[in-house]
This record gives sequence, C-alpha cells and structure tokens, in this order.
Amino acid sequence: MLRIALPNKGRLSEEALDLFATAGLRADFTSSRALMAEMSPDYQAIFVRASDIPEFVADGAADVGVTGYDLVVESGRDVRELFDLGFGRCRLSVAIPESRGIDSVEDLPAGTRVATSFPGVASRFFAERGIDIELAKVSGAAEIAPHLGVADVIVDLVSTGSTLRVNRLAEIETILESTARMIASVEALEDPGRRRKIDRLVTALEAVLRARAKRYLMANVPRDRLDDVRKIVPGMNGPTVVDVMDAEQWVAVHVVVDEERVFDTISELKEIGAEGILVSQIERLTP
Ligand code: AMP
Repeated sequence: MLRIALPNKGRLSEEALDLFATAGLRADFTSSRALMAEMSPDYQAIFVRASDIPEFVADGAADVGVTGYDLVVESGRDVRELFDLGFGRCRLSVAIPESRGIDSVEDLPAGTRVATSFPGVASRFFAERGIDIELAKVSGAAEIAPHLGVADVIVDLVSTGSTLRVNRLAEIETILESTARMIASVEALEDPGRRRKIDRLVTALEAVLRARAKRYLMANVPRDRLDDVRKIVPGMNGPTVVDVMDAEQWVAVHVVVDEERVFDTISELKEIGAEGILVSQIERLTP
C-alpha cells in the first residue's frame, strides 16, 4: 500500500480529491469524518492538515502528499517535489498599512514587528535583506495585527488581494509564489516497490492535468481545403483525417487543441466551410 497524505480541509482539499477521482482513485469514505480512505488496493489516503503534510511525509507517516509549496518551504523538511498540480495559486507577500506610505521593504526601520504564520520563511527573508525584525507569530488572520497595534507589517498569503484591500494594507513585496505540489519522501522513492506505485500515480495525475487544458475537436471539412486545416490545427501529431461514408467531397478531421484556442479554431474552420463541429472534454491524455 502506498500512503498518500491529502489536505482534510481548506482550499486544496476539494481540488485534490477531485483530481484523484478523475484519475481513477476515488476516496471511498466510510464516514464523512473519516481520517483514512482506501482509494484502490494499492493506494490509501490519509486526511490531515495541509500544514502537517510535509512533516508526515518527511517522517515516513505517509509516502507521498499533496500540499502547498508555501507550506513545504516553511516546514524546512527534506522532501522531494514530484510535480506542480497548478491549483491553489497564491503568493506569500509583505504588506503594510497604506497610511504608512512605505512602498519598499528596504525602507522598513530596524525593529519592525512582523506578524505572520510563516515565521521560518519570514525570518529568513528579512535576515537575507539585512533587516532586523521582531517576529509576532500568529496562526491566522495576520491582517488584523497592524490594526491592533501588535505588528507594523504582515507576511501573509494573498490570492485575489481583496483581504488586503479591505484591511487597507498595501503589498510591498512578494516573497514566494505558491501552488499545490506533490511531494514524496526520499525513503519511499528509494524503495523499488513504492517507487513503481509513485510513478504510476504521477503518470495518472499528470494525464488528467494535461487533459484539462485541452479539448477534442471534430469537424467535417471539404476535402479540397485540407491544406488550410493543417494551418489552422497543427495538432499533436497533425490532425487525424478520416473519410466520411457516402460523402466523397468531405473528410472528418479529429484533433486535440489547447482550450484557449478553441474559440478561434472554430471560427477559422467555419471560414473554410467546415460543418458539424463538435468539441468535447478529454478525461485523460497520455502522450
Ligand atoms: P485573498 O483575499 O483572495 O487575497 O485571500 C487572502 C486570504 O486567504 C488570506 O487570509 C490568506 O491567508 C488566505 N489564502 C489565500 N490563498 C491561500 C491558499 N492558497 N492557501 C491558504 N490560504 C490562502
């Protein structure tokens, strides 16, 4: 059994479960508050706090895990990053009350008090800049600290920026950018049995992520416009072209296109006389 640590709540939890389910690994909960679930005879999930996942993986309580890059860096633990899952995008930034009129960390005076739930990353960042700070560790809602007079600046996660705006805080520097990552322990990667299961898992999850950005497009096209089709849709290995029964002058073109190209591709195909254009989602794509 390969043990996978997944976030039990918060922003990453739902997307991680959805990704695994699409890859064919559905968490079979015995109850809604279950802490463990069998995903298949080979894979078992444990549900824990996202911030604990680097620890659990490093200590061998889980072989692999999904958590935010910010939390991996903050933990300082020795784990291997397998790949970027792309969701849970945010940045860890330094922010200061707008009323202070400071727009650079270089202008922060010595002794600046920093409220954060990322004490490791924050203290390393200011030390590298040669700025003496006092840390005020909080476990959440750092944005309130400057208003309570317990800190001058905060180091906190920003996604849309609306929390900062509501609290009249200005972002003055990004320390790191984060997305969800799949991580593994060195020990699990060195064990051939577990390594095989990890490789299979990564292949399956990557196939789902790759497929999400693509669409499968089919269209009937006049046979004499095939050269134009090649220009419109270069395709992964060039489009697949098949005969249409009892329709000499038509061919059916099948091609995988980037999602963001779908709109333009349909318009361009219509212009060369294409008909019966069908676009569908792809569940998995393995090159
Ligand atoms: P926003 O208002 O969209 O900028 O979100 C900021 C708030 O959401 C802050 O309280 C952050 O701590 C929290 N937040 C934003 N992104 C994430 C994330 N990926 N993981 C955990 N918390 C986040």
